[in-house]
Amino acid sequence: MPETCPYGFDETLLSGAIDRELVQATEQKVRIHLEDCAFCRAQFDELTQLREVAMSTTIRQPPDDQWREAPRGGISRTGRTVGWLLAIMWLVIITAFGLYQGWQNTDGAFEKFLGFGGLGAVTLLFASVALDRWRTAKTDPYREVEK
Ligand SMILES: [Zn+2]
Repeated sequence: MPETCPYGFDETLLSGAIDRELVQATEQKVRIHLEDCAFCRAQFDELTQLREVAMSTTIRQPPDDQWREAPRGGISRTGRTVGWLLAIMWLVIITAFGLYQGWQNTDGAFEKFLGFGGLGAVTLLFASVALDRWRTAKTDPYREVEK
């Protein structure tokens, strides 16, 4: 078995084809070359297998193993808190962007009041609900301690 492709084919294209990173024409070129070249076919099979092993190892690795000692509730609660924080941040950014865009495109004080008054009210309502939930999630552990 030779060390490299006897036709001098670019081997990086093989992994590119496996990862589906190539444009169609190049992928076609790889496929045609694979039909003619036993060396690259073997390389391709090996790469495909390696990729599959890597994938199944990632899937098989149970994430719970690492955290078996940690309390499950703590993690999910932290996750929820972070989730709410992200949601609030997202909302603030989206709202700010929307307000800015809207302000640029809206003429007349009355229209601005109509649009932004409503939007502001909805945002405030949502934010207060979100903050409420967040506070509940934060105080939960203390409640459990008191029981
Ligand atoms: Zn080849």
